[in-house]
Amino acid sequence: MSQSILKENYANVLKNVHNACERAGRKTDDVTLIAVSKTKPVEMLQEIYDCGCRDFGENKVQEIMDKYDKLPNDIRWHMIGHLQTNKVKYIVDKVYMIHSVDSIKLAKEISKEAVKKNVTVKVLLEVNVAEEETKFGLLTEEVPDFYKEVIDLPGLKVCGLMTIAPYVENSEENRQHFVNLKQLMVDIESEKTDNISVGELSMGMTGDYEVAIEEGATYVRVGTGIFGERNYNI
Ligand SMILES: *Cc1c(COP(=O)(O)O)cnc(C)c1O
Repeated sequence: MSQSILKENYANVLKNVHNACERAGRKTDDVTLIAVSKTKPVEMLQEIYDCGCRDFGENKVQEIMDKYDKLPNDIRWHMIGHLQTNKVKYIVDKVYMIHSVDSIKLAKEISKEAVKKNVTVKVLLEVNVAEEETKFGLLTEEVPDFYKEVIDLPGLKVCGLMTIAPYVENSEENRQHFVNLKQLMVDIESEKTDNISVGELSMGMTGDYEVAIEEGATYVRVGTGIFGERNYNI
């Protein structure tokens, strides 16, 4: 893919984000576009960085470590993939946010390693709102108790919820899942006794980020729409 097409894609996605915000009566600043750069070479990331993007999403620990050293250090790296506890130590002081906390064991490991390195890591709880068997994530009914169990762990700041909606042809099919994730967050916020905000909602990908924004997403994770199709065979 030529470089000018990347720039064009990125500008288009930004425009769509802006328009979706307008439709929903929201401020564009309230939504962060994460460029999901998994499998893509650092030259492509640099290209999008040069357009002003500072938020990049990766789903593999090794890939974050490789890219981290080769790109500017004001990038906010978002770990969006399933995270194994034995790999937490490699990225805990490199990532801005971990979107995929789905077990107490993982939350405790993040806490332990963060304290060791004297950092605080922002995390989101991954929720399998559509209850797909093939997906990681907590079930909706598990989230309130889970939240109470992890909220006081040191070195870790629970900022909100994340979901990976099903792959669908028509993005409208996912609207209800986004509505449900937002409602779950409202429920958690209303039960809280402290005043720490957990208002972040990471939802929406290339096929459905506009619908997700209309329903309250604060982070959208767009890969294909910016970088083009991924080739896993190289
Ligand atoms: C790959 C990936 C994305 C981006 O998917 P696209 O459809 O290419 O936009 C978003 N979120 C997660 C968790 C991913 O693994």
